[in-house]
Amino acid sequence: MTEWLSRDTLDFLIQAVYFVAAVLFIVGLKQMASPVTARRGVIWAGVGMLLAVLVTFFWQDMGNFALMLAALAIGSVMAWITAKRVAMTDMPQMVAVYNGMGGGAAAAIAAIELYNPGELGYVILVLAILGGMIGAVAFSGSMVAFAKLQGLVQKTLRFPGLQLLNALIFLATIGTGLALLLMEGYPGELLVAFFALALLAGITLTMPIGGADMPVVISLYNALTGLAVAFKGFVLDNAAMIIAGTVVGAAGMLLTHLMAKAMNRPLSNVLFAGFGDTEMEGGGAEGTMKAIDPSDAAIMMAYSEKVIIVPGYGLAVAQAQHKLWEFCERLGERDVEVKFAIHPVAGRMPGHMNVLLAEAGVPYDMIFDLEEINSEFEEADVALVIGANDVVNPDARNKKDSPIFGMPILNADKARNTLVVKRGRGTGFSGVQNPLFVADNTQMVFGDAQEVANKLLQGLKSLG
Ligand code: NDP
Repeated sequence: MTEWLSRDTLDFLIQAVYFVAAVLFIVGLKQMASPVTARRGVIWAGVGMLLAVLVTFFWQDMGNFALMLAALAIGSVMAWITAKRVAMTDMPQMVAVYNGMGGGAAAAIAAIELYNPGELGYVILVLAILGGMIGAVAFSGSMVAFAKLQGLVQKTLRFPGLQLLNALIFLATIGTGLALLLMEGYPGELLVAFFALALLAGITLTMPIGGADMPVVISLYNALTGLAVAFKGFVLDNAAMIIAGTVVGAAGMLLTHLMAKAMNRPLSNVLFAGFGDTEMEGGGAEGTMKAIDPSDAAIMMAYSEKVIIVPGYGLAVAQAQHKLWEFCERLGERDVEVKFAIHPVAGRMPGHMNVLLAEAGVPYDMIFDLEEINSEFEEADVALVIGANDVVNPDARNKKDSPIFGMPILNADKARNTLVVKRGRGTGFSGVQNPLFVADNTQMVFGDAQEVANKLLQGLKSLG
């Protein structure tokens, strides 16, 4: 391969391709910021990754091509099949698994480098140890997050002194890491102890966190994986890993921050409060819910001037987005102004509702963020809350002792009429009661979101 290209030229070309790949990652990420360009962004970033992987085969002293190809083939086939099969509502756990694998890969690279640290300089050794630790924590933590979201682990591990135990495990990991750094020719057992402790730290840190907060935790581990990969990039002198890892780390950290902010909870509360796994009583929901038939609800909206739809997790569970959009199109034909209001943490992952609505073909210019639309509820004839609960809970605004107090909410209660589609009287993700459901101007359309959307559509059709 190098017969017609000098080694220097080949090395230069490899770095040039890495540069192109890095530009593609960054441009791709930028495009993912808007639903209009997000699909293209994923493709650009994917092409960048493909280039970075392909060019690795040309590295100096690269061998084991058969093993590399076999690993690539197995990984690609598994990723393809699982990504095709996964339901949108299960996406957070899939992200957890793949993200965890990234952390595990970074830890594995660190293990190999530290097993034979011969020529590693001091700084690189520090980065190898740090990257190994962070990668191992992200790996085991992500696996626990996956198991919790998948319902494989039901229990939230909590007992007095747990935080102290966590702190001790963490300190022991740092201590063994320092020993690796300072001891010349350390024994293999020390390396094993270091990784075992780091893996244990990921498990004990994640086990006490409520299943409800797992998406935020997954995003945090995603950021940590990025950091670990960037550190490994320095160890392996690989620019693509440094840039991709930094981009993932920064984006993951921002996303974690945004999710915590949208719930108005500091990250420390997410990590250490065990929120959402127990039934909590927010109170304030005394009163009677008034039910309305879907056909009457359809008539109410048919004769409205403005309807704002608030979708939530239940819409995703019921896969009701297509029927809902068909219904909205019909409303549009009757000159009813329809807008969609999206709360930043509606559903179970950031952008969940945007993806669902895009899937159904809802035009982007009908979809509005909380800050854009919240002032419009007062002039809406109907707010149709479909499968959402916490994101429209007025207690977040009014009730200081509510667990969700302070979380910004969509002002569905301020519309002239509020219609709520849900199956029963169940609470939302946070486990708190919602006084919106018993408010004077609220009527409940009980049923599965898809069935109700279908009946709403039939109701409109019957009007001609
Ligand atoms: P919620 O989980 O608060 O409420 C969903 C509601 O949907 C439930 O009350 C349920 O009531 C109803 N529902 C469930 N299945 C169906 C169905 N098949 N048909 C009709 N209704 C159904 O959802 P929201 O979207 O309002 O709020 C999201 C919550 O998730 C927030 O608390 C947020 O903090 C949290 N969260 C979100 C993250 C994100 O990134 N998006 C990340 C972490 C947490 P019933 O059982 O009576 O039908």
